This record gives sequence, C-alpha cells and structure tokens, in this order.
Amino acid sequence: MTKYADVLEAQRQFFVAGKTKPVSFRIEQLNTLKQLLKNHDKEIMDAVYKDFKKPPFETYGTEIGLIINEINFALRNIEKWIKPKSVPTSLVNFPSKNYILTEPYGNVLIIAPWNYPVQLCLLPLVGALAAGNTAVLKPSELSEHTSAILHKLIAQYFDPSVVYTVLGGVEESSALLDLNFNYIFFTGSTRVGKIIMQTAAKKLTPVTLELGGKSPCIVEESADLEVSAKRIVWGKFVNAGQTCVAPDYLLVQESIREDFEHELRQAVEHLYGSDPSQSDDYTRIINDSHFDRLTAFLDNGRTVIGGESDSSERYIAPTVLGDVTWDHPIMQDEIFGPILPILSFNHIDEAIAQILQTTRPLALYLFTSDDDIEKKVLEQVSFGGGAINDTIAQLGNHHLSFGGVGASGFGSYHGKASFDSFSHQKSIMKKNFLVDIPLRYAPYDGKIKWLKTIFR
Ligand code: NAD
Repeated sequence: MTKYADVLEAQRQFFVAGKTKPVSFRIEQLNTLKQLLKNHDKEIMDAVYKDFKKPPFETYGTEIGLIINEINFALRNIEKWIKPKSVPTSLVNFPSKNYILTEPYGNVLIIAPWNYPVQLCLLPLVGALAAGNTAVLKPSELSEHTSAILHKLIAQYFDPSVVYTVLGGVEESSALLDLNFNYIFFTGSTRVGKIIMQTAAKKLTPVTLELGGKSPCIVEESADLEVSAKRIVWGKFVNAGQTCVAPDYLLVQESIREDFEHELRQAVEHLYGSDPSQSDDYTRIINDSHFDRLTAFLDNGRTVIGGESDSSERYIAPTVLGDVTWDHPIMQDEIFGPILPILSFNHIDEAIAQILQTTRPLALYLFTSDDDIEKKVLEQVSFGGGAINDTIAQLGNHHLSFGGVGASGFGSYHGKASFDSFSHQKSIMKKNFLVDIPLRYAPYDGKIKWLKTIFR
C-alpha cells in the first residue's frame, strides 16, 4: 500500500465510524478552518506574494476573506441544510411519508490549480466539511510557497483522518486518482479535466469539473463607457489576468470602439499608473513557461495599451490589443494572462454569432443599458454564469452558485450549492403495515382500467 492509500484508509475508517456526521463535529471543523485562516493570514499572504507577487489586498479580498465569508454562511445555515426535507406523497403510494435525507459522499479528493491557490483549495473544503466528508487536498505544484504553507497549516490544525494535504504534481495527482475516493472535485484546465473524468469513469466516481475557456465580454453602444472600462480593466488585470472567469476577449461595437479604447487607456493608468511595472498592486506571471506562452501573443493585432514585458521578473504589462481576428494565435485558446484582445461587431447578432462558434464559456459579461439586448444575449448564449455591467464580481455573492457548462465544466459550488455538491440526496418512502392496497399484485385480470384512471 502507498502512503496515500494509508491516509485514505484512515479517512475511510473515520468516516464509516460515523464520526464526521454529527453537526457538532462539522461545526468544529469549520471553526478550525476559520481559526487557521485568521491566525495565519499574514503567513498565507506572504506565501502567495512569493509565488507571483500577488498584492496582499487581493489575496485577502479574493481568497482569505471569501473563504471566511463562506465558512460563516455555512455555520449560519448548516442546521437547516442537514434537516430531512419532507415531500408530498403520490397517488400510487398513498398512504406514505416521503422525505429526502442528505448524506455525505464519504472520502473526497479536491484537486486545485495555482491561480487562486488558497481559495480554490479551501473553498471546496468548506462544502466538503459542512456536508460531513473527509478530504484529501492536492494543491498545485506551481504555487509552491502557498501549497507548502497550506500543507503545514492543515497538518497543524486538522486530524489527517479528516483533512490531509498531498504536495506534488501530475505523478502524485495520478496516484491519488487511482485510489477509491467517493467524490472528486477538480478545478483546472479543460485538458486535464478530461483526464480526471476518464480516470473517474473507470470507478464510476462522481466528479465536479470546474474548468476554463474563453469568456467573452461584450460592450454595446448604450453602455456607460467610463464605468464599463474601469470594471473591465479591474476584472481583467486583477491577478494579472490569471483568473478563470476573467474577460478573455472584448467584443466592442464598432460605433464606440475608438472612444472605448481611450477609456480603457484612462482606466489602466488610473489603476496602475503610467508604468505598471512600478505598481505594488500588480501581480506577476506564475512561471517561465506561462510567461513565454503569453509574450508570444504580444505581436498579435495592434498594440492599444502596454505590450512591454520583462522576463527577469515575469512581468507583462496590462496589455490591450486592437484589430484582432479569430485567426490570430491569441484567439485559439484561453489566454489566462494580462492581455486583452478587442474584436468588434456592428449589430449584436454578429457578436452573438461569434460567441456561438466557440465552446460554451465559463463566464460572459455584457455592458449595456438596453434591456432588449440583455434579454437577447441571455436567451441565446449558454455559459456558466456571468454579470451584466460588471466583471467577476458575481463570485462575491454566495447566493449565486458557480460552475461551468459544456467544455467549461459541470457541477457547481459556493454557498448552499457547495453543501449540495458534496452531499448525496437519499430519497425515502415510508409506509405503515395497516393499509395494503391490492391493485399492484397479480392476478392483474380486469385491473388495467384502474391503472388507466390513476394515470389519466
Ligand atoms: P491544470 O489543469 O494544469 O492543473 C490543475 C491541477 O491538476 C493541479 O493540481 C495539477 O497538479 C493537476 N494535474 C495536472 N495534470 C494532471 C494530470 N495529467 N493528471 C492528474 N492531475 C493533473 O490547471 P492550472 O494550469 O493549474 O490552472 C489553470 C486552469 O484552470 C485554467 O484553464 C483555468 O481556466 C482553470 N481554472 C478554472 C477555475 C474554475 O473555477 N472553473 C478556476 C481556476 C482555474
């Protein structure tokens, strides 16, 4: 047996002994996680900074704070969530009591990427613990400082029979996938998502896949250009564009394109100054291979803003490219960096047609004051989730579930959806011994007319 198999076996025994199920235990685990975050926020922010110079403000706002918020929401609602839910009976089963129990899957595996290295590991963990599971976490090898601190703190705060962290990359991840987990929650690329699903299929292990893709952002002529530019620049360049739901590309109506380019310039300067390399508030690229992949796009189209880079720091300036077409290399795959190409359209139908040529995106953003256009886009385009007149801020509301569709993944989490994702819904019908209607029993002779009355 491998070391990981031993860990899982310990978690399996802990779970089958029923120890994770009492609500008091779940609350205790959630409070432990909250304490871990509160007591070590500085260490965590320092580790994320070491990985890719992410400003502590962003780490607190988009990672630590979000997880604390999620924990508080779960703590406030868990008693309600775990109660059995009564549902009406049906005519054929009258009289009976019918209800749905939620039960934890058991031992879950959470595999996370590097781009929000704390949040994407621990936010699913909140759902897993609230639902009464044990968890093995596999953070990314690319965010090595953050993964190391998570490993250290989880070992310090949690019983390994409840939560355990495995450090490593493909090899370790593959070894974990070979084991018999009851649920796999994966966040990462579409390419690796396919591998996860194939492996899980061999054991029929249920999965949630939180994947990526090219998320469009439409700017239509009725939008307030100044406010739209600020919100787009913020959502694109926070974390240096290394955000799964960042606007990947802009579709700007031709009538306002020039004015909008001007507003984007103003917004970038407003947020990061005339030389963003000197700004303390601007993140770097995670590693050299991503830096090389991204800088190869800088000559696509016409440079509207930025375009500078520095390999010694893995710095790429907030960049906007004009006159980009679908034939440019930058439009072939998810960008996942601080480069924002602009494509244009004349009528909203053309923008919709361009998006419909692609796989279903994780997010879509629309900037407009026109309700008919809003209705049309929402009706005609399928995507994971999104925002009207803002970007990525929808993730800050735990009442909105988060997840993809088609190639951007399936399943969802955040708030109650996290609890549901990590729970099996067990439907129960209960009858008494007093009434036993004979209709269903053979001989059926002459009874079909009663069936026809019931199913009329
Ligand atoms: P990735 O798919 O390369 O890696 C994710 C995780 O999978 C890592 O822990 C990695 O070690 C592991 N892994 C990699 N190859 C593997 C293999 N062959 N077998 C088993 N495990 C393997 O993703 P990444 O580069 O870390 O993250 C970027 C991607 O994640 C982007 O596509 C982005 O859109 C997506 N993403 C999606 C969300 C979301 O919530 N939908 C959030 C963040 C990132």
